[in-house]
Amino acid sequence: MISVCHLYPDLLNLYGDRGNVIAFRRRCQWRGIPVSVREISLYDTIDFKEHDFVFIGGGSDREQNLIAADLMKRKEGFKEAIEEGLVILAICGGYQLLGQYYLTRDGETIPGLGVMDFITRAGDKRLVGNVVIEMDIGGLSVKVAGFENHSGQTYLGDCMPLGKVLSGNGNNGADSLEGVRYKNVFCSYLHGPLLPKNPRLTDHLISIALERRGMGCKLTPLDDNFEDRACMAIMRRLGFKKITGGSKMQGKK
Ligand code: GLN
Repeated sequence: MISVCHLYPDLLNLYGDRGNVIAFRRRCQWRGIPVSVREISLYDTIDFKEHDFVFIGGGSDREQNLIAADLMKRKEGFKEAIEEGLVILAICGGYQLLGQYYLTRDGETIPGLGVMDFITRAGDKRLVGNVVIEMDIGGLSVKVAGFENHSGQTYLGDCMPLGKVLSGNGNNGADSLEGVRYKNVFCSYLHGPLLPKNPRLTDHLISIALERRGMGCKLTPLDDNFEDRACMAIMRRLGFKKITGGSKMQGKK
């Protein structure tokens, strides 16, 4: 049994973020892997050690602010689980909350969990639109498509990006970096939702979650025709012809 935790689904769920949990669960179920999903919000108790995959979505500054104090109370358990290899996908607002802080347009500092070395500050204009990044998935260079809409601009310190921006803005619109990757934590600005139309990434998350449980095996291939067509619909608009292959990712570190 793979145990999924959806953090703050009632507060952080922009642009279909919930679809990430649905895609993760469905791709397990299609292969006969049983999955349980637990939704955890403000004041609920949680033991991160009991979970294999944690998803946290994006939200407005207001919602991030509401969550920050609650998340902070979970800091030690969360940090420990991350160090022990818990698989996490954090999108946009959820991503920002895992860093040092987020300085909003109103000059307010929303504290982050500080589990990774990056900061976010609001820019003068919102970064909005479709995005294509290139990232390494199990040694293969894969293009991943999504949609971004954020005012926060993220700058990485001593941590690795998730991918390189091929089209769109990503972390800050300036350094061509997108997201953060640390141990089994995947942070990204890509809504859309991300996982349904990027099945290689979804399967990678499933694989490492299974491996960590000692249930590692080669995943049964699925027919990804619809998923790939959804991805290509965006990619083609931005001038890309193929999902896999292409240049090697060059990021920080
Ligand atoms: N409120 C944050 C920002 O504007 C996150 C937005 C989001 O999750 N899409 O940067």
